[in-house]
Amino acid sequence: MTDFHGKKVLVLGGSRGIGAAIVRRFANDGAEVTFTYAGSKDAADALTAATGAKAVKSDAGDRSQTIETVKAAGPIDVLVVNAGTLVLGDPLETDPDAVDRMIDINVRAPYHASVEAARLMPEGGRIVIIGSVNGDRMPFAGGAAYALTKSAVQGMARGLARDFGPRNITVNVIQPGPIDTDMNPADGPMKDTMHGFMALKRHGRPEEIAGLAAYLAGPEAGFITGAMHTIDGGMGA
Ligand code: NDP
Repeated sequence: MTDFHGKKVLVLGGSRGIGAAIVRRFANDGAEVTFTYAGSKDAADALTAATGAKAVKSDAGDRSQTIETVKAAGPIDVLVVNAGTLVLGDPLETDPDAVDRMIDINVRAPYHASVEAARLMPEGGRIVIIGSVNGDRMPFAGGAAYALTKSAVQGMARGLARDFGPRNITVNVIQPGPIDTDMNPADGPMKDTMHGFMALKRHGRPEEIAGLAAYLAGPEAGFITGAMHTIDGGMGA
């Protein structure tokens, strides 16, 4: 546990999966948490009831909504950008609009949200982006567009770390490998393929990602910035 009493945390994309585990972790550790959701109102309501966190409907694929949501949250100590989608398939057959929407959610939203949050963020604030090991390694066909989005946030974090470093605001990327969520169920059809690439032959748990997010947002991580933190059971090893 890290003590986040007195800290305000905003999690973009917190209704399900990794984001929900991050909301639970920060709420359990005493933070005042706000999270966004797009489609999963029931899940968002249940999480609010369980944690006391505040839910806000906001589409990360819409730049104005994202900026307004961050602005409305006021000065926050920690921003976690988790909202993400996965479009896989033969690039010659994939709907280009679906690819562009993924780029809006996975790339444009982290950038605009981070910049907007930094305007009011106090000295020592923390920005954590959920990327993917696929930003470094794309070991199967059909993942080019998704890998593009997760590589893009690497460069963004390196650059923003330098922009906000003078205010002691850190910017880091967490790069999960396969994690058991709706996006990538541990019993899904890709399970054996993915485990074949890994040193640890299992999916990770959302709580394992939440633990790293709490560490990066906590007092022990004040000297870590502009860095990629891979937590992938050795998939990229
Ligand atoms: P899930 O599909 O299980 O959950 C996605 C979450 O993001 C939901 O809370 C969803 O909210 C929210 N979200 C999606 N689109 C939007 C949007 N347009 N606006 C606001 N919120 C949105 O995914 P995971 O938990 O598995 O993934 C979370 C992050 O982790 C993503 O960035 C993903 O790329 C990354 N990741 C996941 C891995 C995995 O194996 N699971 C591996 C590596 C990275 P709602 O349902 O309300 O729309």
